[in-house]
Amino acid sequence: MKRFRKLLTAALVTAALTATAAIGASACTTIYVGGNLVEEGTPFVARTEDYGADMNKLWMITEAGKWNAGDTYVSCSAYGAMEWTFTHDSYRFTHFTNDVFYDGTCPECGEKINTGNPEDFHYSYTEFGTNEKGVSVSATETIHGNDAVKAVDPLVKTGEKGGGIEETDIPTIILAEAATAREGVELLCQIYDTYGAFFESGVFVCDQNEGWYIENCSGTQYVAIKLNNDMIFIEPNIAIIGQIDLDDTENIIASEKLIEVAKQAGTFQGDEAENIIDFKASYADNSSGNARMPDGLKFLNPEKYGQVDSQYLDANNEMFTISNVKDGKIVPLYTNIEADRELDKNDIFNFYKLSSVGKESNQEIEIFQLFEDRPLETGTVGWVGVGNMSNNVFVPYYPMLLTDQYEGYQVSTATVTKTSEKPDSFCTWTTRDGGKYVVYPENWRDSYYFTFEGLGGYIKYAEQITGQPISDADKQYVLDQMDALQQQLNQEFAAMDPKDTTKVGMDMAKRAHEKGLEMIDYLLAKAPKSSFRDVATDSWYFNAVNYVTEKGIMSGVSQDTFAPDDSLTRGMIAQMLYTLEGKPEAGEPAFADVATDAWYAKAVAWVNEKGILNGVGEDAFAPEEAVTREQLAVILSNYAKLKEHKAEDKGIDLKSYGDYASISSWALEGMDWAVNAGIISSKGENTLAPTDDATRAEVATILMKFMESF
Ligand SMILES: [Zn+2]
Repeated sequence: MKRFRKLLTAALVTAALTATAAIGASACTTIYVGGNLVEEGTPFVARTEDYGADMNKLWMITEAGKWNAGDTYVSCSAYGAMEWTFTHDSYRFTHFTNDVFYDGTCPECGEKINTGNPEDFHYSYTEFGTNEKGVSVSATETIHGNDAVKAVDPLVKTGEKGGGIEETDIPTIILAEAATAREGVELLCQIYDTYGAFFESGVFVCDQNEGWYIENCSGTQYVAIKLNNDMIFIEPNIAIIGQIDLDDTENIIASEKLIEVAKQAGTFQGDEAENIIDFKASYADNSSGNARMPDGLKFLNPEKYGQVDSQYLDANNEMFTISNVKDGKIVPLYTNIEADRELDKNDIFNFYKLSSVGKESNQEIEIFQLFEDRPLETGTVGWVGVGNMSNNVFVPYYPMLLTDQYEGYQVSTATVTKTSEKPDSFCTWTTRDGGKYVVYPENWRDSYYFTFEGLGGYIKYAEQITGQPISDADKQYVLDQMDALQQQLNQEFAAMDPKDTTKVGMDMAKRAHEKGLEMIDYLLAKAPKSSFRDVATDSWYFNAVNYVTEKGIMSGVSQDTFAPDDSLTRGMIAQMLYTLEGKPEAGEPAFADVATDAWYAKAVAWVNEKGILNGVGEDAFAPEEAVTREQLAVILSNYAKLKEHKAEDKGIDLKSYGDYASISSWALEGMDWAVNAGIISSKGENTLAPTDDATRAEVATILMKFMESF
């Protein structure tokens, strides 16, 4: 899929397309496995919709007759606003959509669409679905045509009414209209012929008997191939239809001018006399995409593809492209991809857990498992995953028998916000914009989507969020928990009466959702905590601040700030030691600058009385004056003497510090004691910085060491 989100005016669309394509925001991943290569004998047709972790995604049912014959549908204005007039009353179908119900605004075009006026309404980024006739659509895998071809056969964009068909329209129109996969693919081809395409894409249209995969790399030119049971392919946002003999009309549907347009563009590769075109080479480029192709191949067959990387695949497209030509002859469609084992559904699930595939950009994924021999209603099984798939499960269901869906799939939420300051509420992290916290909407726990976005994102970015990565043991624990649940769902589904699919499916989804939340809570409970917004869990003083505040020796300067870099006053240190001593009886302070009702009055009186910290002159204490590091050393050594604490002498010679000479003579003994007791250590390179003000973070650390060493 491809997104250009929010408020794009028609004039901006072209510029935005270029910009978004350049950063490669799309990352949908498709895999197809033919039935003969699968233990259960059923083909698997699967794809993720990827865009990002920002926005809730909903799973819905559109009831039959939502549109009547002759009704016009106008799609999102951000995507060309295609107009479609329905040829009959629309079929019922399942589908995913962006959350357009939160505040009635389409997140793609920014227009208010829930106004009550049906003409304003459109779903936003409709994806995947199965209709009442058993037709399933996966729209779409964003791919890229070459510029020469698109100059001859441009994509059809208007931004107002009358654009070409875009991903967001494909499921709606095909599922509302088509009674078989064949009808669906023919309808899509016809739309490409008459309306053109808003964007390049790869799309599946299938039913239990027949499946098609279509690539379109320009405005009106396309190739559709009929899936067979002996092939595997992977599609990570690149064209993968390679050398095709167009005379194989049983298995190929192609636009009439496919060869002609490529020739005009000067990019044609193939054999015109034989009606053979290398579609990828002619219409796209030799790219193998990204890590997802080599990772996927390795997953299928580590021995064969262990050494294969993207660069090698770029130079050897025939390792993954689809063809029906061998030695100049038409043969059944094939790829050269070979798995090293008979695959089962768990292999498909695990493919979507590969680190390059299952990640925070996942929005939802649907796997269609097609059973040729079954009645229509149970001929298609959908395996649905929502959110980040890295730590998640696929929930099975029979789309045609489904009458309702779990509420966690349908709850509306705001989008996330991104901040540089760590929020008090649950967040994940994004590396975008130089690294930001991703703050979840208030009711995120109600949303299935955000629960699994949250789980996967938190596991991946825990170190950025809390200062501490998730341990390998905990990562494995979560994976094992999710896998155990998956196996349970698989078994329950196999044993289920299909007519119970709604009830059982809702229960399964609820349990999966609850398991996701349980895993998040499990990990959060283990996270290091900071009570202060300005004390990061990964700061050097985090433990010390925790220690002294838990013991009540220091406290924050406000409810949620500690001011670690502020200096500490003489009044404060007096109060700390007084607190540490358990606030014994003390007289009145005998200093002109210490009021008897000052919060530190008793403490000042006590430290003076005990000789821990004396006045600074005739009758002044200077309670607001900052304490230097050497003063702190003397104060603590006085206190230690009072308590008769004997520190073990480490035998360190103060003269070994570079700034020994700057230690005040009256502080030498105290500093010698503090350094040798291990309470004060060098600040920076071999210096004690005796006359620097002690910061609150340093004092916390020094106090912790002091208290721990006796
Ligand atoms: Zn819109």
